[in-house]
Amino acid sequence: MNKPKKVQESITIFGAGLVGSLLSIFLARKGYSVKIYERRADPRKQKMQGNRSINLALSKRGWRALQEVDIADLVKPIAVPMKGRMMHDTKGNLTFQSYGTENQAIYSVSRAELNKIMITEADRLPNTKFYFEHDCKAVNLWDFSYQIEHQNQVFSENSDIILGADGAFSAVRNAIQRTDRFNYSQFYLEHGYKELTMPPKTDGAFKMSPDALHIWPRRKFMLIALPNPDHTFTVTLFLPFEGEISFESLQTKKAVKTFFETYFADAVELLGNPVEQFFANPTGSMVTVRCSPWTFQNRVGLVGDAAHAIVPFYGQGMNAGFEDCRVLNDILTEYNGDWTEIMPKYQRSRTENANAISELALTNFIEMRDKVADEKFLLRKKIEAHLHQLFPEKWIPLYSMVTFSHIPYAEALQKGKRQEQIMNQVLAMSNIEQTWKTLDFQEIVNRL
Ligand SMILES: Cc1cc2nc3c(=O)[nH]c(=O)nc-3n(C[C@H](O)[C@H](O)[C@H](O)COP(=O)(O)OP(=O)(O)OC[C@H]3O[C@@H](n4cnc5c(N)ncnc54)[C@H](O)[C@@H]3O)c2cc1C
Repeated sequence: MNKPKKVQESITIFGAGLVGSLLSIFLARKGYSVKIYERRADPRKQKMQGNRSINLALSKRGWRALQEVDIADLVKPIAVPMKGRMMHDTKGNLTFQSYGTENQAIYSVSRAELNKIMITEADRLPNTKFYFEHDCKAVNLWDFSYQIEHQNQVFSENSDIILGADGAFSAVRNAIQRTDRFNYSQFYLEHGYKELTMPPKTDGAFKMSPDALHIWPRRKFMLIALPNPDHTFTVTLFLPFEGEISFESLQTKKAVKTFFETYFADAVELLGNPVEQFFANPTGSMVTVRCSPWTFQNRVGLVGDAAHAIVPFYGQGMNAGFEDCRVLNDILTEYNGDWTEIMPKYQRSRTENANAISELALTNFIEMRDKVADEKFLLRKKIEAHLHQLFPEKWIPLYSMVTFSHIPYAEALQKGKRQEQIMNQVLAMSNIEQTWKTLDFQEIVNRL
């Protein structure tokens, strides 16, 4: 039997980004009074930056969280389904690889539009209050107070529960970081990224097929493109910061032009002005942050990138953050609002999964930029797809476990490693390219 309902605590969330805004809906729907402080201006009042639409891939875990707060239907109209990868080789030849079965897709959504939808829906609820252009300067863990700067004035407040959804460089985490036995690591990738835009054709149509995530894998670097509802593509170049071919070495218009023409000739034509965009748009870095514990004295907690910033190559950072919110909500229900039970359970259930997706995201970078162009890799995918077709419950390709299921990331990683070992044995068999269809697939599955 459930415990009697307690008086509900006041909750403060820092960060009204993707995760903070969703979390505020979950908590407000549970009846809590939620204040949300966001450093940036209200995105609903902002114009799109330089006409650039930055998008991300939303997959099953993210959709589930959106469904649970009844906003999935509002997001569907801005979501473009991508059913697989479209590889572009240096000669412009295209190869399509499905991500999963016929009905499975990941969805390209605009980061800004998604954020606006969630803030609008959260703001409709009577017990949420958003404060934009309010920067959390410090969190004091001894009395659960915090300092906020707004229009050059600093004021102090406190709250029963403080949740940090303030991203990879979280002020809330920064406070916990100074406590005893806090583990923390931060690791920057040697690659940076730059976003470019591919405009539509003059008649307004997409320039490439919109139902795929396009990849130009070039081993040490790559270009990817995701479609937008306005028929543009957001194109992202991932390139080392330093080295022979790098952001550092591409200093002149001539060097950038030659670089694009050499490695991405078909994209140059479609982008129109990659050189101008290359110099006009900023270069971003990518960081992996791991830490534990995610909570402090059952009154302070971390969610989303504040707890686990990961590199973007599995398209799971936001999805994992949304899953944090959904799981936290389930635990709130299970323990009937008792935070002394909720915080430890939340942390226990999420940390190893966050570490797993962090590892998977780093290894998927190698797969995307390098292996997807490899014949043996394509054969591996083909055999795995066949095994999945024959034994849908037993053999689920790692990508599908991560993207199209709710199997905890840590379990997916472990199962994926076992499947990889088996596939390595299969692919080492002589003449496998010709004989794979005659394999004893039951025997392969029995090795699991
Ligand atoms: C290039 C790239 C591509 C990506 N693609 C994908 C993808 O395809 N799929 C996917 O699932 N994920 C993707 N991600 C990851 C995804 O962007 C993040 O996981 C997600 O944005 C995390 O959301 P968040 O709300 O935790 O943090 P953020 O989005 O960083 O939001 C944090 C918010 O907190 C605010 N804030 C920060 N400090 C303070 C402060 N002191 N006081 C008040 N407010 C503060 C910030 O202004 C911000 O609004 C990608 C990331 C990158 C870099």
